[in-house]
Amino acid sequence: MTDCLFCKMASGEIEPDIVYQDDDVIAFRDINPQAPTHVLIIPRRHISTINDLQSADAELTGKLFLAAGKIAEQEGIAEQGYRTVMNCNAGAGQTVFHVHLHMLGGRAMTWPPG
Ligand code: 5GP
Ligand code: ZN
Repeated sequence: MTDCLFCKMASGEIEPDIVYQDDDVIAFRDINPQAPTHVLIIPRRHISTINDLQSADAELTGKLFLAAGKIAEQEGIAEQGYRTVMNCNAGAGQTVFHVHLHMLGGRAMTWPPG
C-alpha cells in the first residue's frame, strides 16, 4: 500500500532503525519507546489488522514471534523476559493499520495493561 507508513519502512522508502530482517519480516525500534527495548516486528506484506489475517498467513504470523525470540537474544533480555503485544483496531489502541507485534523489555512489566 503506497500510503502505509510501515509499507514504506518495509520497502526502504523510509529507513527505520532496523534490528532484524529476513525475507518475510522486518523489525525496527519504535519512535516513541515505552521500555528500554521497544521493537515493532511487521510482515513485509501489508495486512491491516489481526481481523484481516487468513489461514494462509499462519506461517507468516508465527514468524513474527520467531523474530521476537531472536531479537530478545540479540538485546540480551531473553532470560529476564519481555512482552509481546498486538493491538487490533482503535479500541485497543491500534494507530498504524499494518499489523505489528510490539516487543517490550528491559524493565519490569505490570499486569493488567492499561
Ligand atoms: P499501535 O498504537 O498501532 O499499536 O502502535 C504503533 C506504534 O508505531 C507506536 O508505538 C508508535 O510509537 C510507532 N510509530 C508511529 N510512527 C512511527 C515512525 O514513524 N517510526 C517508528 N519507528 N515508529 C513509529
Ligand atoms: Zn502496510
